[in-house]
Amino acid sequence: MLDQLKDQPADKILSLMAAFRADPRDGKIDLGVGVYKDPEGRTPVMRAVREAEKRIWEQETTKTYTALAGDPAFSDAMVALVLGDAVPRSRVAAVATPGGTGAVRQGFELIRMMNPDAVVWVPEPTWPNHLSILKHLGMTVKGYRYFDEDTLGVDAEGMLADLAGAKAGDAVLLHGCCHNPSGSDPEAGTWEKVAGLLRERGALPFVDLAYQGFGDGLEADARATRALAAGGECLIAASCSKNFGIYRERTGVLMAVSGDDAVATLAQANLAYLNRQNFSFPPDHGARVVTTVLGDAGLRADWEAELEEIRAGMIGLRQQLAAELRRLTNSDRFDFMLSHKGMFSRLGASPEQVEWMRAEHGIYMVGDSRINVAGLNARTVPVLAKAMVEVGL
Ligand code: PMP
Repeated sequence: MLDQLKDQPADKILSLMAAFRADPRDGKIDLGVGVYKDPEGRTPVMRAVREAEKRIWEQETTKTYTALAGDPAFSDAMVALVLGDAVPRSRVAAVATPGGTGAVRQGFELIRMMNPDAVVWVPEPTWPNHLSILKHLGMTVKGYRYFDEDTLGVDAEGMLADLAGAKAGDAVLLHGCCHNPSGSDPEAGTWEKVAGLLRERGALPFVDLAYQGFGDGLEADARATRALAAGGECLIAASCSKNFGIYRERTGVLMAVSGDDAVATLAQANLAYLNRQNFSFPPDHGARVVTTVLGDAGLRADWEAELEEIRAGMIGLRQQLAAELRRLTNSDRFDFMLSHKGMFSRLGASPEQVEWMRAEHGIYMVGDSRINVAGLNARTVPVLAKAMVEVGL
């Protein structure tokens, strides 16, 4: 029977990682996978995370199951981190999930349970896994204009015009901050218009928040999500992989913001049901680490400080790269990178140009010319800048 299976398309980013590993060149530069790296190319365990793990190890007395929704203290901590006081806690249903991907997947499943005919609107472009999960679930997808290839910024007008076509019972996927792959986020005024439009149309916003703290800071990066949640019903998939640096622990949360407490109770039962069907109890270790860090003033302050160092480091690299490109080209045409947020920027290179930079300079970026800024350091910034100019960008 197994021979009846079909080949599945390889994940492009994972294939790129393998190609990078196989490249024997010393000077190769990995700007592919979306993992934070320090200037030495390491993805460190954050200080507060290490300390929290030590405390957990010393204090944990059992590893029996938690609850289907995960530890309620984790949900409380994450709802507070993401939503602040934008909505009363009693209106938010929340469950722990295996990573942000688990939350995204179950958010889509919840949409399908609410409305089997729902159209899910996604930005063009979006994280490829969104599309692949939606396809796997057999759900109907429509793209909305998002990234303007000419300005390398958000096409706010196109976005609003396309979203005006969303109907009651549809869901609209939005990247809460640090859009992947473009790095380009809507302005506050555009977010307000999007929130108003979706409310008017009766479409459900579904926010994917995978990089809170990587863009403009923990509070600023949550602003759009909070505005959408304050406006009515909303789903939120939040990942702890990046901002806590606990990628492999698979820690995320799916939230459903309801209009009233009774609907929130119903949503909570449905979210727990979905956990039960998919994997039963969610992973706990990463969630416990996050709860410990967020619940202890000292650990939290240290985590916030380290997250801020990471954020500032990435902004510094952007500034260096933009400055180097100004120097080489005598123009400011690459300054768009300074308005991009978080780890990613889309450079606007063609697939051929991307391939040329890989072949000639050992610079690995995703085929759509997304770079992971954190893959750079002071030594490699000039190498990338030179290659970009040489390839004709
Ligand atoms: N959404 C987006 C937009 C992402 O970029 C990622 C990470 N690549 C995720 C969700 C999920 O990450 P994880 O499952 O590792 O928490």
